Amino acid sequence: MINLILFGPPGSGKGTQAAQLVDRYRVLHISTGDLFRYEMGNNTPLGQKAKSFIEKGELVPDEVTIGMLQNKVDAHPEALGYIFDGFPRTIPQAEALDAFLAGRGEAISRLIMLDVPDEEIIQRILGRGATSGRADDLNTGIIQNRIDVYKEQTSPVFDYYASHGKSVKVDGVGSIDAIFDRLCEVVDAI
Ligand code: UDP
Ligand code: MG
Repeated sequence: MINLILFGPPGSGKGTQAAQLVDRYRVLHISTGDLFRYEMGNNTPLGQKAKSFIEKGELVPDEVTIGMLQNKVDAHPEALGYIFDGFPRTIPQAEALDAFLAGRGEAISRLIMLDVPDEEIIQRILGRGATSGRADDLNTGIIQNRIDVYKEQTSPVFDYYASHGKSVKVDGVGSIDAIFDRLCEVVDAI
């Protein structure tokens, strides 16, 4: 199985690239952000809980996110591998993911980080906010908080997998196709 973590700051293109990777490698796309938006759209108890964090640009507590992720994996026993998009976002989430996969005889193959400078990220998110209907994409204060949370809590996850020899950085600036080619080179080398 190929199990990828698509990593990078908010607005770095994880969702866009994950959709193309799924087409080529036939793995299951698991975006915890999309799962939260689905729950919020249906106003479920989980969605209500997540909303209070998401509308501030904070992280939803680890146990909530990890439980939701495990349910999604368990619901797809047929999956030939996974692309985790936007997860893990903290070291405890990474440790929980590794333990969960190990329990299934699996492991993360690669963490691929999409490298995009801050100035470009803010422009991309504001651009997306114009059409995405996402309140957290329209307010520069919330966007800045998401970037700060990424730097403080999420970026150490890169080093965590780097210490296992699994982290790779890919230039996330350029056309969608050019970036996709860079990602495929990394995946094909696994
Ligand atoms: N979020 C979270 N944990 C996750 C995924 C998302 O707490 O595992 C929350 C967090 O508040 C984040 C928001 O959901 O700012 C949007 O996440 P998403 O991954 O969709 O946004 P992206 O980073 O891709 O722009
Ligand atoms: Mg996303």
